[in-house]
Amino acid sequence: MEIILSSAIKTRLYDAQMIARRALISAAAEGNLRRVLGQNIFGLAEWELLYGVNPVAVVEGLGLPLLPDWQIGLNDQCPICGKIKKDCHFAFLGLPEFQGKPLNFLRLMDMHPGNGAMGNPILTGLPQGTTLNPQQMMALANQEHQPRFLSYPPTSWFSNEPWMTGQSLQYRWYLGHQQIHPQSTRKTWEEQLAILPAGYRPPFAVEETAKLIFYFRRNSIYLNTFLYSRCADETIEGYRPIVGVFSGAGVHTGNAPDIHKYVLFGLSPFAV
Ligand SMILES: [Zn+2]
Repeated sequence: MEIILSSAIKTRLYDAQMIARRALISAAAEGNLRRVLGQNIFGLAEWELLYGVNPVAVVEGLGLPLLPDWQIGLNDQCPICGKIKKDCHFAFLGLPEFQGKPLNFLRLMDMHPGNGAMGNPILTGLPQGTTLNPQQMMALANQEHQPRFLSYPPTSWFSNEPWMTGQSLQYRWYLGHQQIHPQSTRKTWEEQLAILPAGYRPPFAVEETAKLIFYFRRNSIYLNTFLYSRCADETIEGYRPIVGVFSGAGVHTGNAPDIHKYVLFGLSPFAV
C-alpha cells in the first residue's frame, strides 16, 4: 500500500528532525562548556536534578540556547580580578518561567521559601514574642532551609516594589563574575559603571540573585558574604536595589541612592 504523506505531515516531520538536531547540537555545546567550567556551571543537569524541570521541555522545541561569544576566552585572564576567567566566573542557564510563572525575583523567593521566618519550625516552637539569641539565629540558618532570603513579603521593605516582577530571566546562558568587582566599592553608580571592562554590564536583581542561589545549590558556598551588588533596576523611590551579604541567614536586599558611596556597596559584573 502506498502511503502518501500530506505536506502538513511532511513539514511536521521536518520540524521534528530540526528540533532533535538542534537539541543534539546545543547539548554538545553545553558539554563543552561544562568541561571548561567544571563546578562553575548550572545548566540542564542541575535544573533537572535540583528543581525537577527539563529546560528543553519548558521552552518547547527550542533545544538549549546556543552559547554566547563569551564561551571563547574562558581560559584567558580575567580583566576584573586577574584570575583565569573559568575559575572566577559562573555560567547559568536562565529559564523564562518556573512551573508556569515568570521567573522573576518574586518567583525566586517562592522557589526558596526557607520556610520563611514565621514558618520556620525552630521559631514556631518558641513562645510568641521571643527574641532570638545568636545560637538560635544560627540554628535558623540550618542547611535544610537553604538557600533562603533574609525577609519575605509582606514584611520586607521591598514588598510590592515593581522591580520584583519587572525583570524575568531569559532563555539564555548567563555568565556572572562570582565576586563583587574588587575595585567597585566606595563608588557612586556612575563610577562603578565606568570601571566595568568592555564586554561587561551591571546585573538586574533577578540575575544577581539567581547567580547567588544557583551557585549555592551547585556548590554549597555562599558568594558575596560581606558585600552587596548594586543592580540595574530602580526602586519606587528612584534608588537601586542592592543584593548580597549572602549567608545562612539568607540573601539580603536593600536599596541605595546612586550617589551614595559606601564600603559595602559594590558591583557584580555580568558578561554582555
Ligand atoms: Zn575574575
